[in-house]
Amino acid sequence: MPEQRGLLFVISGPSGVGKDALVTELLQRDTRLRYSVSYTTRPRRDYEINGVHYNFVSRETFERMVAEGAFLEWADYNGNLYGTSLAFVEETPRMGLDVILKIEVKGAETVRQRRPDGIFIFIAPPSLEELARRRAARADGEGQETLERRQEIAREEMAEAERYDRVVVNDQLETTVKELQRIIRAERAKRLRVSNAN
Ligand code: 5GP
Repeated sequence: MPEQRGLLFVISGPSGVGKDALVTELLQRDTRLRYSVSYTTRPRRDYEINGVHYNFVSRETFERMVAEGAFLEWADYNGNLYGTSLAFVEETPRMGLDVILKIEVKGAETVRQRRPDGIFIFIAPPSLEELARRRAARADGEGQETLERRQEIAREEMAEAERYDRVVVNDQLETTVKELQRIIRAERAKRLRVSNAN
Protein backbone atom coordinates (compact mmCIF):
# COMPACT_ATOMS: atom_id res chain seq x y z
CA MET A 1 0.00 0.00 0.00
CA PRO A 2 1.41 3.45 -0.87
CA GLU A 3 2.37 5.68 2.03
CA GLN A 4 -0.52 7.76 3.43
CA ARG A 5 -0.32 11.32 2.04
CA GLY A 6 -0.08 14.10 4.58
CA LEU A 7 -2.72 16.79 5.12
CA LEU A 8 -2.56 20.56 4.69
CA PHE A 9 -3.66 22.66 7.66
CA VAL A 10 -4.02 26.40 7.19
CA ILE A 11 -4.09 28.53 10.33
CA SER A 12 -5.17 32.10 9.75
CA GLY A 13 -6.64 35.04 11.61
CA PRO A 14 -5.68 38.59 12.48
CA SER A 15 -2.14 39.53 13.40
CA GLY A 16 -1.69 39.53 17.19
CA VAL A 17 -4.35 36.89 17.84
CA GLY A 18 -1.73 34.43 19.09
CA LYS A 19 -1.18 32.27 16.00
CA ASP A 20 2.58 32.15 16.64
CA ALA A 21 2.31 30.78 20.19
CA LEU A 22 -0.39 28.31 19.18
CA VAL A 23 1.57 26.92 16.24
CA THR A 24 4.77 26.72 18.32
CA GLU A 25 2.90 24.62 20.90
CA LEU A 26 1.34 22.39 18.27
CA LEU A 27 4.72 21.71 16.65
CA GLN A 28 6.26 20.80 20.01
CA ARG A 29 3.49 18.33 20.77
CA ASP A 30 2.99 16.78 17.35
CA THR A 31 5.95 15.29 15.49
CA ARG A 32 3.93 14.60 12.34
CA LEU A 33 3.34 18.31 11.73
CA ARG A 34 5.80 20.29 9.62
CA TYR A 35 5.78 24.09 9.65
CA SER A 36 6.09 25.84 6.33
CA VAL A 37 8.63 28.64 6.87
CA SER A 38 7.42 31.60 4.81
CA TYR A 39 9.45 34.00 2.72
CA THR A 40 9.14 37.68 3.57
CA THR A 41 10.56 41.07 2.67
CA ARG A 42 9.73 42.41 6.16
CA PRO A 43 12.79 43.46 8.21
CA ARG A 44 13.84 40.82 10.72
CA ARG A 45 12.89 41.47 14.35
CA ASP A 46 15.67 41.03 16.92
CA TYR A 47 14.52 37.66 18.22
CA GLU A 48 13.87 36.18 14.78
CA ILE A 49 16.20 33.66 13.13
CA ASN A 50 16.55 33.52 9.38
CA GLY A 51 15.33 30.15 8.11
CA VAL A 52 13.41 29.43 11.32
CA HIS A 53 10.83 32.18 11.72
CA TYR A 54 11.00 33.31 8.12
CA ASN A 55 13.29 33.23 5.15
CA PHE A 56 14.14 36.92 4.96
CA VAL A 57 14.71 38.02 1.38
CA SER A 58 14.99 41.23 -0.59
CA ARG A 59 12.05 42.50 -2.58
CA GLU A 60 14.02 41.75 -5.73
CA THR A 61 14.49 38.09 -4.75
CA PHE A 62 10.86 37.82 -3.72
CA GLU A 63 9.65 39.23 -7.02
CA ARG A 64 11.88 36.86 -8.94
CA MET A 65 10.40 33.95 -6.98
CA VAL A 66 6.89 35.17 -7.81
CA ALA A 67 7.82 35.25 -11.51
CA GLU A 68 9.25 31.73 -11.26
CA GLY A 69 6.03 30.41 -9.70
CA ALA A 70 7.81 29.45 -6.48
CA PHE A 71 4.85 30.38 -4.24
CA LEU A 72 1.63 28.55 -3.53
CA GLU A 73 0.34 31.96 -2.45
CA TRP A 74 1.76 35.32 -1.58
CA ALA A 75 0.31 38.54 -0.23
CA ASP A 76 1.17 42.11 0.56
CA TYR A 77 0.56 42.69 4.25
CA ASN A 78 1.03 46.25 5.47
CA GLY A 79 3.56 47.03 2.75
CA ASN A 80 5.66 43.86 3.10
CA LEU A 81 5.45 40.73 0.99
CA TYR A 82 4.90 37.26 2.47
CA GLY A 83 4.82 33.98 0.56
CA THR A 84 4.46 30.21 1.00
CA SER A 85 6.86 27.86 -0.75
CA LEU A 86 4.99 25.69 -3.27
CA ALA A 87 7.71 23.02 -3.26
CA PHE A 88 7.54 22.57 0.53
CA VAL A 89 3.76 22.24 0.55
CA GLU A 90 3.81 19.72 -2.30
CA GLU A 91 6.75 17.60 -1.22
CA THR A 92 6.23 17.27 2.54
CA PRO A 93 2.89 15.39 2.35
CA ARG A 94 4.53 12.83 0.04
CA MET A 95 6.58 11.78 3.06
CA GLY A 96 3.38 11.16 4.99
CA LEU A 97 3.79 14.33 7.06
CA ASP A 98 1.17 17.03 7.60
CA VAL A 99 1.96 20.63 6.67
CA ILE A 100 0.86 23.61 8.73
CA LEU A 101 0.72 27.14 7.30
CA LYS A 102 0.33 30.27 9.43
CA ILE A 103 -0.75 33.01 7.07
CA GLU A 104 -2.98 36.07 6.82
CA VAL A 105 -6.45 35.84 5.33
CA LYS A 106 -5.82 37.02 1.74
CA GLY A 107 -3.18 34.32 1.33
CA ALA A 108 -5.50 31.75 2.92
CA GLU A 109 -8.13 32.66 0.31
CA THR A 110 -5.64 31.92 -2.48
CA VAL A 111 -4.79 28.57 -0.89
CA ARG A 112 -8.51 27.81 -0.66
CA GLN A 113 -8.79 28.27 -4.44
CA ARG A 114 -5.71 26.20 -5.24
CA ARG A 115 -5.99 23.56 -2.54
CA PRO A 116 -9.64 23.00 -1.64
CA ASP A 117 -8.54 19.81 0.14
CA GLY A 118 -6.85 21.97 2.82
CA ILE A 119 -8.31 22.29 6.31
CA PHE A 120 -8.87 25.99 7.00
CA ILE A 121 -8.89 27.12 10.62
CA PHE A 122 -9.57 30.71 11.68
CA ILE A 123 -8.22 31.86 15.04
CA ALA A 124 -10.39 34.63 16.46
CA PRO A 125 -9.68 36.91 19.43
CA PRO A 126 -12.27 37.06 22.24
CA SER A 127 -12.82 40.66 21.03
CA LEU A 128 -11.16 43.33 18.90
CA GLU A 129 -10.34 45.31 22.07
CA GLU A 130 -8.49 42.31 23.47
CA LEU A 131 -6.62 41.95 20.19
CA ALA A 132 -5.45 45.58 20.35
CA ARG A 133 -4.35 45.08 23.95
CA ARG A 134 -2.34 41.95 23.11
CA ARG A 135 -0.69 43.60 20.14
CA ALA A 136 0.31 46.67 22.16
CA ALA A 137 1.74 44.41 24.87
CA ARG A 138 3.80 42.56 22.29
CA ALA A 139 5.25 45.91 21.09
CA ASP A 140 7.28 44.65 18.19
CA GLY A 141 9.16 47.88 18.02
CA GLU A 142 6.70 49.05 15.43
CA GLY A 143 5.35 52.57 15.69
CA GLN A 144 1.87 53.61 16.78
CA GLU A 145 0.87 54.15 13.18
CA THR A 146 1.69 50.54 12.27
CA LEU A 147 -0.21 49.28 15.31
CA GLU A 148 -3.25 51.27 14.27
CA ARG A 149 -2.99 50.12 10.70
CA ARG A 150 -2.72 46.51 11.87
CA GLN A 151 -5.86 46.99 13.97
CA GLU A 152 -7.68 48.31 10.92
CA ILE A 153 -6.56 45.25 8.93
CA ALA A 154 -7.70 43.03 11.82
CA ARG A 155 -11.21 44.46 11.61
CA GLU A 156 -11.34 43.59 7.91
CA GLU A 157 -9.86 40.16 8.54
CA MET A 158 -12.50 39.27 11.14
CA ALA A 159 -15.17 39.54 8.46
CA GLU A 160 -13.57 36.56 6.70
CA ALA A 161 -14.06 34.10 9.58
CA GLU A 162 -17.23 32.57 8.19
CA ARG A 163 -15.40 31.24 5.12
CA TYR A 164 -13.34 28.84 7.24
CA ASP A 165 -13.95 25.17 8.07
CA ARG A 166 -13.43 25.91 11.74
CA VAL A 167 -13.33 29.04 13.90
CA VAL A 168 -11.51 28.76 17.21
CA VAL A 169 -11.60 31.60 19.74
CA ASN A 170 -8.20 32.00 21.39
CA ASP A 171 -8.97 32.95 24.95
CA GLN A 172 -6.71 30.64 26.99
CA LEU A 173 -3.67 29.29 25.12
CA GLU A 174 -3.86 25.78 26.58
CA THR A 175 -7.57 25.37 25.84
CA THR A 176 -7.07 26.58 22.28
CA VAL A 177 -4.11 24.25 21.67
CA LYS A 178 -6.17 21.29 22.89
CA GLU A 179 -9.03 22.29 20.59
CA LEU A 180 -6.64 22.48 17.63
CA GLN A 181 -5.19 19.08 18.52
CA ARG A 182 -8.73 17.65 18.55
CA ILE A 183 -9.38 19.11 15.09
CA ILE A 184 -6.12 17.66 13.73
CA ARG A 185 -6.85 14.23 15.23
CA ALA A 186 -10.36 14.23 13.75
CA GLU A 187 -9.05 15.15 10.28
CA ARG A 188 -6.46 12.37 10.43
CA ALA A 189 -9.11 9.85 11.43
CA LYS A 190 -11.31 11.03 8.56
CA ARG A 191 -8.47 10.61 6.08
CA LEU A 192 -7.89 7.05 7.33
CA ARG A 193 -11.58 6.21 6.91
CA VAL A 194 -11.61 7.64 3.38
CA SER A 195 -8.47 5.81 2.29
CA ASN A 196 -9.63 2.51 3.84
CA ALA A 197 -12.89 2.80 1.97
CA ASN A 198 -11.11 3.20 -1.39
P1 5GP B 1 4.26 39.36 10.96
O1 5GP B 1 4.87 40.53 10.24
O2 5GP B 1 3.53 39.79 12.21
O3 5GP B 1 5.26 38.24 11.21
O4 5GP B 1 3.16 38.73 10.00
C1 5GP B 1 2.13 39.52 9.48
C2 5GP B 1 1.03 38.60 8.95
O5 5GP B 1 1.52 37.87 7.80
C3 5GP B 1 0.60 37.53 9.96
O6 5GP B 1 -0.82 37.45 9.91
C4 5GP B 1 1.25 36.28 9.44
O7 5GP B 1 0.54 35.12 9.81
C5 5GP B 1 1.17 36.51 7.95
N1 5GP B 1 2.07 35.65 7.17
C6 5GP B 1 3.22 35.06 7.55
N2 5GP B 1 3.72 34.32 6.55
C7 5GP B 1 2.87 34.42 5.50
C8 5GP B 1 2.83 33.86 4.18
O8 5GP B 1 3.68 33.10 3.74
N3 5GP B 1 1.77 34.22 3.40
C9 5GP B 1 0.80 35.05 3.83
N4 5GP B 1 -0.19 35.31 2.98
N5 5GP B 1 0.80 35.59 5.07
C10 5GP B 1 1.81 35.27 5.90
